[in-house]
Amino acid sequence: MPFCPQCRYEYDAEVRQCPDCGVELVEKLPSQEELPPAGALVTVHIAKDMIEANVIKSFLEEFQIEAFIGYDLGPAYPVGQIDVRVAEAHADEARELIAEFFQSSPEDLEL
Ligand SMILES: [Zn+2]
Repeated sequence: MPFCPQCRYEYDAEVRQCPDCGVELVEKLPSQEELPPAGALVTVHIAKDMIEANVIKSFLEEFQIEAFIGYDLGPAYPVGQIDVRVAEAHADEARELIAEFFQSSPEDLEL
């Protein structure tokens, strides 16, 4: 079903334009939770695989720092270089937390 990207109202399949906003409808609304916060994202850690990246991400989120995982090539299970990114405002804090995290559990990244 198409949605209006502006008022987020859902329309019937044959509707192309939001009658209220006059904008073209989109097939899928971007999920609000997945949108990065305003401002640049900064890479604070380069993980060796998705598991490590996810561990860092959930670790940072325990401290209310929203983290994003990014990688440039797109295989389903990327390995090699996976960036963990946070908003610029949180970058210093995130780097300190990550440093502490690796000091406290250097070898122990298994879930
Ligand atoms: Zn609308």
